[in-house]
Amino acid sequence: MSPVTINLTLPGYRILRWESNLMMRVYVEALDPPRLCACCGGGRLRSKGRYERRVRHLACFGRLSELVIACRRYHCADCERSFVQPLPGVRPGRRSTEPWRETIYERHDDGICASVLARRERLGPATVARIYAQFTERKAKERLSVECPRVLGIDEHTLHRGQRFATTFCDLHRRRVFDISPGRSEAELASYLRTLRGREQVRVVCIDLSNSYRAMIKRWFPRAAIVADRFHAIRVVSQHLLRLARQLCPALGWNRAWLGLLRTRSDRLEAQQRQRLAQLFAAHPVLEGIHALKDRLCRLLALKTQNKASCRRHIRTLLELIALLRKDGLEPAVTLANTLTAWTQEIVRMWRFTRNNGITEGFHRKMKLIQRRAYGFRSFANYRLRVIAQCG
Ligand SMILES: [Zn+2]
Repeated sequence: MSPVTINLTLPGYRILRWESNLMMRVYVEALDPPRLCACCGGGRLRSKGRYERRVRHLACFGRLSELVIACRRYHCADCERSFVQPLPGVRPGRRSTEPWRETIYERHDDGICASVLARRERLGPATVARIYAQFTERKAKERLSVECPRVLGIDEHTLHRGQRFATTFCDLHRRRVFDISPGRSEAELASYLRTLRGREQVRVVCIDLSNSYRAMIKRWFPRAAIVADRFHAIRVVSQHLLRLARQLCPALGWNRAWLGLLRTRSDRLEAQQRQRLAQLFAAHPVLEGIHALKDRLCRLLALKTQNKASCRRHIRTLLELIALLRKDGLEPAVTLANTLTAWTQEIVRMWRFTRNNGITEGFHRKMKLIQRRAYGFRSFANYRLRVIAQCG
C-alpha cells in the first residue's frame, strides 16, 4: 500500500513499513498524537507505553488488508486518569476502520448475501449481520423525523404471503415512508397511534375506501381532512361495474381479452381495440351502457386540482351518476352507489388535492422486494429498520 493509497482511503496516518503475504499488513502510526488530556483537557501528559492495534481496512490492489497501528496509553498528571489515544477513522473498541465497515454495509445492501460476503472477506457471517444492523440503525435514526408529517398516506400491505398485515404511514409531502406498524385494525394500531407525536397537527390523510381506516383517523387525527385515494376509488368503480357486466352478459365469463377492453379507458384504446369493442357491443348491446357509465365515472374520479366552483359542478354530475346506478336496482350497481354516497365528501376533497397513495403503493412494491431478498422476516423490528433505512 503506497503512502498515496492510505492517504486517500484513511487520512491521518504515516506508514512505517508493510508486509505482503496472503493479507497485506501495513504498519502505521497516527500523525497527530494527543497533546491534551481527553478527560480534563490538561496538558501535562506522560506516555504509559506502546501497544499495537490491528484493524481491518479496505482491500489494496485486490488483496485483503490489515492496519497495524502503533498507539500509546497516556497518563494525565492533572486529573490522575489514564486514557488511550483516539484514532482517526477507527471507533473505540472496533476491530475495523469505518471506511471498511461502510463498504461491507454497501455490498450487503447491494444484494451480496451475508455468507458469500463473509467468505470473500474472511469473516463470520454474524459480523456482516452486525455491521449491517449498526448502519441501518444509524440511518434509521438520522432519517426518522420525530414529529408526524402534516400530509399522511395510510395504507395496508402484507407480510408472509398475505398472512399478516402491516400499516404504512407515508409522508406524501416529502415522498418517503414515515413509519410502519404491525396490524391494520384500530385495536392493533392503538398502542402505536397513542405514542405518535404531533398527530394533532396532521392536516390531510389519504386512504383507500376503507371504513375501518376512516373511523380510526377521525378518532386519532382529529384535525385531519380525509381524502379518498384516486387509484382505489377508480378501482372500486371498475370492479363493481365489470361484475355487473358479467352478471348481465354471462358470455363474457372470464374472457380476458374482452374484460381488458372493457377495463381500459376509451380514450386510451387503439384503433384496432376500438373496432373489437364495437364488435362486442354489437353482439351484446347491454354492455355498451355499462361501459359508457363506467367511463364517465372513472373520468370524473380522475380529476384533480379543481377549484371550488368546478367541484360544485362535478358533485352534481356525481349525484346524477349515482342515481343512474340505483335506477335498475341491480346488486353490484347499488352496492357501488352506496359506497360512492358514503364517500362523497372524501371524493370531493380528492378533486381539490393532487397527491395520492400512488406514492405509498410504490413503496409497497419496494417493501415486497426487501422482504423477498431477506426470504421473509421473523422479527418485525428488523423489517421496520430496513424499510425506514431504504424507503425513509
Ligand atoms: Zn486530565
